[in-house]
Amino acid sequence: LQSHHLDSPKIPKVHWEDIGGLDKLKTELLKTIEFPIKYPHLFKNSSLKRSGILLYGPPGCGKTLVAKAVSTELNVSFMSVKGPELLNMYIGQSEENVRKVFESARASSPCIVFLDELDALAPRRGAAGDSGGASDRVVSQLLAELDGVTSEEVARVIMGATNRPDLLEQSLLRPGRLDKLVYVGPYCGVEEKTRVLKALCRSYNLRGEVSLPDVAAALPASCTGADLLHVVSTARAAAVRALVRKLDSGLVKESELSPDSIVLGVSELWEGVDTFRPSVT
Ligand code: ATP
Repeated sequence: LQSHHLDSPKIPKVHWEDIGGLDKLKTELLKTIEFPIKYPHLFKNSSLKRSGILLYGPPGCGKTLVAKAVSTELNVSFMSVKGPELLNMYIGQSEENVRKVFESARASSPCIVFLDELDALAPRRGAAGDSGGASDRVVSQLLAELDGVTSEEVARVIMGATNRPDLLEQSLLRPGRLDKLVYVGPYCGVEEKTRVLKALCRSYNLRGEVSLPDVAAALPASCTGADLLHVVSTARAAAVRALVRKLDSGLVKESELSPDSIVLGVSELWEGVDTFRPSVT
């Protein structure tokens, strides 16, 4: 039987500067896990060394990003698995995959386990699409891992993520399990969207006349991080095209190119904004 291939946990390279906004979320997560991870010996009671957090909200709003940044900040390894990846048609194999995830996390502890699309792995009993038997066993395995004893020396952090907390098997949310629910929503308002755009443009050269607040104001009132990333990627593609045109016409030489040659100007960013405008027919 083929079991799911797991990437071994490692410390991510996502820094706070890569993230725009989300300050409250960062503080909230750090507050919950920083102490137990840094000072596990202060927590005699093993239940205090266990943190379980459920991040919920629409896709593309930064759940994975912030979880990774927290791991980077605390210098602990991070293991991310998507629920559906662990599901396997063979009897017993899905539970075995779940067991392996936690075994691998324990071997590199302290480790933050991030279970994305958790609703697929542990759907509420009787929910649509739940065929019954198989998911009951997966849920039991998951609960056993969540309830498992924590050793004296290390803390254990499990984060779940879902777009549909209502579809989740509710016993996962009991005290001692994923008992801290944190909503991660879209970015609303010019200021918040500007902060995300700023973070996403961090590694590009912006032309002096570019005003990110103007760009943010021209976008829909509420945007996901993925939407804002799309604006910047579109602008970057336009900037690359402009550069290629300059090369073709001999205005710049290939030997003069560096990453700094890609410059985002107003017209490039506006190309990104335009992808969000209703098309005029
Ligand atoms: P899913 O539910 O689909 O897993 P998610 O909430 O985990 O979504 P992320 O993968 O963290 O979303 O975000 C999607 C992308 O959007 C990120 O890779 C990142 O490039 C960008 N992004 C989201 N939020 C931010 C932010 N606050 N600052 C900078 N980039 C962001």
